[in-house]
Amino acid sequence: MTPETLAQLKDAGGGWSDDPQEIAPHLVEWRSKYQGRSSLLLKPDTTERVSKILALCNAARIAVVPQGGNTGLVGGQIPFDGEIILSLSRMNRVRMVDVDGMNVVAEAGATLAAVQKEADNFDRLFPLSIASEGTATIGGNVSTNAGGVHVLRYGMMRELVLGLEVVLADGRVLDLLRALRKDNTGYDLKQLFIGAEGTLGIVTAAALKLFAKPRERATAFIAVPSPAAAIALLARLQDATGGMVSAFELMPRLGIEFVLAHIPGTVDPLSQPSSWYVLAEATGGGGSSLAASFENALAGASDAALATDAVIASSEAQRAALWKLREAMSDAQKPEGGSIKHDVSVPLKDIPAFLDEGIAAVTKLVPGVRPVPFGHLGDGNIHFNFSVPKGADNDAFLARWNEIQDTVHDIVHRFGGSISAEHGLGIMKRDEILRYKSAVEMDVMRTLKRTLDPNNILNPGKVVLV
Ligand SMILES: Cc1cc2nc3c(=O)[nH]c(=O)nc-3n(C[C@H](O)[C@H](O)[C@H](O)COP(=O)(O)OP(=O)(O)OC[C@H]3O[C@@H](n4cnc5c(N)ncnc54)[C@H](O)[C@@H]3O)c2cc1C
Repeated sequence: MTPETLAQLKDAGGGWSDDPQEIAPHLVEWRSKYQGRSSLLLKPDTTERVSKILALCNAARIAVVPQGGNTGLVGGQIPFDGEIILSLSRMNRVRMVDVDGMNVVAEAGATLAAVQKEADNFDRLFPLSIASEGTATIGGNVSTNAGGVHVLRYGMMRELVLGLEVVLADGRVLDLLRALRKDNTGYDLKQLFIGAEGTLGIVTAAALKLFAKPRERATAFIAVPSPAAAIALLARLQDATGGMVSAFELMPRLGIEFVLAHIPGTVDPLSQPSSWYVLAEATGGGGSSLAASFENALAGASDAALATDAVIASSEAQRAALWKLREAMSDAQKPEGGSIKHDVSVPLKDIPAFLDEGIAAVTKLVPGVRPVPFGHLGDGNIHFNFSVPKGADNDAFLARWNEIQDTVHDIVHRFGGSISAEHGLGIMKRDEILRYKSAVEMDVMRTLKRTLDPNNILNPGKVVLV
């Protein structure tokens, strides 16, 4: 980069830093799996600045890596080759809330929690909910097509986006910031950028759907004899509540034990241990008989041996305590040593067989491995994690990541599932996906990338190699 270009970029960025200490946190991620390298951080505060930066970068063939909250789990936000980091964190305004029209327009750097809060201030619900929501941003959520615990009822980020404002690789602003529910005027271009992980454009703002806030909520922590029983229980709860189940999370006993051991303030809500648990929540309108229907369905499930015990939250504090058991499950695995993780989905009906087959296959490879499969059962999405056997060498275990991953992913593929249900491809699964996607699918992906980013300056090396 010439000194002139560098000066122009700093000027265009408005906020910038070349201080290694300030840049350092942007080069590592939550799992400490990747270490990046970059000597320039740009922090624009307007769409116009992002546009100027990209026009300059495109002309000078300088690569940029967009970054939001840096909570991504596949290394997509890490600059591996000295690229400029383009942080959207200063573009964090909520531009508008349309209470009756049920939508909000937020800038890319607004945290998910801030948008939820702003919706709440207007007695509205923005339903996307993930454990990283205090740090993860709307731009990151759009770019990873984030999922989380409410997909069952409200869908993934893709289903919550009405419109987008995107800066293209050459600096042009593509204004698709329409809050229309119906717009059949040709190709739905915003969809291209949702889940593109910053490889096709920089998202600078999004128009998002809001919902009426639930007036009634029923939450239960339920011991179930098996994943198959959990699936049957979900169907019962959906039938009983008229489809009001908004979260249905599966957890194994070992995961609960990790949480109880490592997360202060957590307690086991049930007196007897169970192999599997479900955290189920249903939400509905005021004055409905939701809680009664929910409780009746649980009683029926107990009679049918689909549930062995349950506690229903009787206060907001108890509800929070039950949710903490689920939300702390990722954190609680850290003190237990190395963990090999998979974010996979298979058709709901195949989950029990997949769990049996997957756990048996990995246990055969690594006797004594500790399976901690948990997650969004209602969506067929399991975080299929394995902790290092007790007393085994951590590094030797982690060195087998690819072997274990390929074994798991082959089983997922055989069940017609996905090797990345919600975290994306980033760098972690960029090459792995080649084992499963057809040549035609990959060719269409490369064609899109070459068309929208002919100089390969947007997050190069992530998602797809061109
Ligand atoms: C504890 C924990 C729990 C999590 N739980 C879930 C979960 O339940 N469901 C789920 O889906 N994910 C989950 N995640 C993953 C992560 O939080 C999401 O992927 C989130 O959407 C990333 O947002 P971010 O702002 O941190 O993005 P970053 O990590 O900064 O970036 C993610 C990707 O998006 C790109 N990007 C970021 N901003 C922009 C932009 N403005 N324009 C273009 N590209 C951009 C980056 O280049 C990168 O490729 C979890 C993560 C953690 C640490």
